Amino acid sequence: MFLELVIVMRIFSLSSSSSYGNAYVVWEDSKRPLLIDCGLSLRQLVNALTEIGLSPEDIAAIFVTHEHSDHVRAMCLKTPFAQKFNIPVFASFGFWKWFQARHPGCLDPCLVHCIEDQQRVEISGYTVHGFLKPHDANEPMGYRIDGVSSSVGFAMDLGYVPPSVKNLLRGIEYLVFEANHDVEMEINSGRPRFLIQRVMGKFGHLSNDDAADALSRLVTPYTKQVILSHLSIDCNCPEIAERVVGDKLKACGYKPDIKVAPARGVSGFGA
Ligand SMILES: [Zn+2]
Ligand SMILES: [Zn+2]
Repeated sequence: MFLELVIVMRIFSLSSSSSYGNAYVVWEDSKRPLLIDCGLSLRQLVNALTEIGLSPEDIAAIFVTHEHSDHVRAMCLKTPFAQKFNIPVFASFGFWKWFQARHPGCLDPCLVHCIEDQQRVEISGYTVHGFLKPHDANEPMGYRIDGVSSSVGFAMDLGYVPPSVKNLLRGIEYLVFEANHDVEMEINSGRPRFLIQRVMGKFGHLSNDDAADALSRLVTPYTKQVILSHLSIDCNCPEIAERVVGDKLKACGYKPDIKVAPARGVSGFGA
């Protein structure tokens, strides 16, 4: 009798919003986990990792998407999270230029790693594929992480989804994908006009409708789960985002498991 060893991909959202920060963990059995963004306070981040049974030393590497504080809070300290726990950090050249100007000498150069558009990095048994995305930041990146069992794509904080990103993420098993706002709620939010224009612009954030349109091209019968992320607290709600995306995918003949990452607090996805 054979005992089949089933390897699974676990995905944790530690927090997912501009209000409370963004950090996600990808963790495939028997490997060390990867951290995508670290937009929490040091204490919140350590506590969230503890909640999923990890200590900071377990993290093999951090992949930073861009410099907005809701993605890098724990990096912007006198002793950044990565420095305190000796964790290598991958980000674009544009991010590092920004970081070195604002936090010079805070991070040991041996922990600093550049990843470029369409570059693949092999680390800890994963292949991480970086891609540039349209957002108002310094060379903002998204990531696709390939494990042995499956692949996970991270695309949040982007104004639209270019063909190169669609090609890279189409048909993979797990998509952590931005559904930032409901267009009507955003327009009627009472926010300053410039802010509304920024959010809804080409270098802002994906609306529920944008996410639904893009996902209708990314999802295939191989897609196991879509995890809607980075929802606006004031201009969206999980039920609306899930319905808009679910209806569109259903109309295209797809019925993947659709989940919503909560704005704050730890939540587990994947297998
Ligand atoms: Zn953000
Ligand atoms: Zn951003």
